[in-house]
Amino acid sequence: MANSVVIVGGGTSGWMTASYLKAAFGDRVAVTLVESKNVPSIGVGEATFSTIRHFFNYLGVEEHEWMPECQATYKLAVRFEDWREPGHTFYHPFERNRVVDGFPLTDWWVQKQPTARFDTDSFLIASMCDAKSSPRYLDNSLFDSTFERGEEHRTTLSEQHTQFPYAYHFDAAMLAKFLTRFGVKRGVRHVLDDVVDVVLDDRGAIDHVRTREQGDLHGDLFVDCTGFRSLLVNKALDEPFISFQNHLPNDSAVALRVPLDMAEQGLRPATTATAKDAGWIWSIPLFERLGTGYVYASEYATPDEAERTLREFVGPAAENATANHIRMRIGRSARSWVKNCVAIGLSNGFVEPLESTGIFIIQNGIEQLVKNFPVGDEATDENLRDTYNRQAAHVMDGLREFMVLHWYASGRSDNQYWKDTKTREIPDGLAERLDQWKVKLPDQNTIYPHYHGFESYSYRAIILGLGGLPVQPLPVLGKLDGTAADREFQLVSEQAAALVDKLPSQYEYFAHLHGLP
Ligand code: FAD
Repeated sequence: MANSVVIVGGGTSGWMTASYLKAAFGDRVAVTLVESKNVPSIGVGEATFSTIRHFFNYLGVEEHEWMPECQATYKLAVRFEDWREPGHTFYHPFERNRVVDGFPLTDWWVQKQPTARFDTDSFLIASMCDAKSSPRYLDNSLFDSTFERGEEHRTTLSEQHTQFPYAYHFDAAMLAKFLTRFGVKRGVRHVLDDVVDVVLDDRGAIDHVRTREQGDLHGDLFVDCTGFRSLLVNKALDEPFISFQNHLPNDSAVALRVPLDMAEQGLRPATTATAKDAGWIWSIPLFERLGTGYVYASEYATPDEAERTLREFVGPAAENATANHIRMRIGRSARSWVKNCVAIGLSNGFVEPLESTGIFIIQNGIEQLVKNFPVGDEATDENLRDTYNRQAAHVMDGLREFMVLHWYASGRSDNQYWKDTKTREIPDGLAERLDQWKVKLPDQNTIYPHYHGFESYSYRAIILGLGGLPVQPLPVLGKLDGTAADREFQLVSEQAAALVDKLPSQYEYFAHLHGLP
C-alpha cells in the first residue's frame, strides 16, 4: 500500500485531491502538498457539474459551512444564448427526461411541440432558471423531495455517478483556501515552496521532488497538480500529450471579475454561455460578483479584440476590472498515471470550459485514484494503473465528442469561425452516431459508450436547443395514443408554475444564508 503521497500544486486540483485523500484514508496515508508562492493558480474554474455535490458530501461538509465562505451559488443548468441565432435562448438542465409510455418526453415533444420551447415544455428547471428561483426553500428543503437524503447521509464511493439536480458556482480562490483549512486540520502537511527538480530512480519512477528552500520531498505516490505546466507527468516522465486542437479550436481566454449588486441584478441559478464571433462568453453569478470570460480561438481573434468584445459585453461595471489572459492547452496526456505519478487537473488535460467539465474531470480522477489506490505489489499496481488510465482516457474522449457536438450542431454559420465549425474534422465514431441521431434522438445505446458524465438527455437538449441538425418525429409515436404525453406536458407546466410561485428567489435564499436582512 502506498503510505505517503506527495501532491505538487495547490490550485483547485491539488486541494481537492489532498482533502479527498484525507477523507478517504485519514491517518493511514500521509499527505504532503507543496505549492509555489510564485506561480499563481489559474484563477478561473468557478462553475461545476452536478456530481460535485457528492464531493462535498464525501468530505462531510455541509452547504451552510462552505457556501457562504466561497461566495457560492446554485447552478441548475447552462443557459445558451445566441448559439442557434441571435436572440435565441435555451437551457441544458441537470434534469433527466420524464418517460411516457416508454419514450422520453423530448421524443414526444418533437412530435407534438406544445410550444416552441422544448426546455420549458419538458423540464421543470428551465422555468425555475427563467424565474431566477432557488432550488431550496428558506427552511432548506429541496424543490424535489426525491433527492432528499437526510443530513446524516454520507456519499459512498459507489453512488458518485447519480444525477443530482444542481451543481455550484463558487470563487475558486476562496474554495482553495477553504479546502486548505479542511486539509491542514486533518493532517495534510502544507509546504510553501517551488519544486525546482524532479529526481527519478533507476527504474524511471519519481524518487523525490527537490524544493528551492525546504529540501527533498519523498513519497510512494506523486500527484501532479501543476496545471498546464504538467511538470511531473509530461515534463519529467516525458509522457506524450494528445492535442484535441484539430477538433476544438478555442485555445485562449480572457477573464474578468466584475463587482455587481446582485440584490438588484438577481441571481439566475445557471451559467450563461453566450455565443460570440470567435467563441463564447461565460457569465457565472456569484453572491457578490460576476465571473465572466471570453473563450476564443486565437486563429480568429487577437487578445486585444477578445478583451474589447468582453468589456463591451459586460458594460460599465467592467471598467476597473483587470483582465486575466490565459492560453489553454486542449487535449490529454496519453496516460494520466505513469509509474508512480498521477496527473490530476489541467496537468492531465482539459477539453474546453463549455459545460464546466474541468472540476468534474478532477473529481472523477480523485475518485478513481482512491478506487485504484496502489497496494505496493508491482504486478497488481500495473493492473490498477491500466484500469485507471483506460477510464481516464474514456472520460476525456467522451467529453471531447460532446463538446464537438456543440459547435457542429449549432445553427450558426454567419462568419468564418462558425462556418468552419461545420467542416472541421470530427472525432472517430461521431459521424456514425450523427447518422443514427438523424432518425432517432440519442439514447443510452447511441451516445459515446463509456462513462464521461453526460447522459443521453444532455445530448437531446443540446441537439434540440442548437437547432443545426435535422430532427424528425419518431414515426412510431404517430401510431400510439398520445393522450398521456399531452397530460405530462400539462403536468410539467402546472408543476413549474407552482414551484416558481412557491420557491424563494435564489438571491433571497442566499441573503438568508448569509444572515442579511
Ligand atoms: P492551477 O490552478 O494552474 O494550479 C497549479 C498549481 O501548481 C498552483 O498552485 C501553482 O502554484 C503550482 N505550481 C506550478 N508550478 C510549481 C512548482 N514548480 N512548484 C510548486 N508548485 C507549482 N473548470 C470547471 O470545472 N468549470 C469552469 O467553469 C471552468 N472554467 C475554466 C475557464 C478557463 C479559461 C480555463 C483555462 C479553465 C477552466 N476550468 C473550469 C478548469 C479549471 O480552472 C481547472 O480545472 C481547475 O482550476 C484546476 O486547475 P489546477 O489546479 O489543475 O491548475
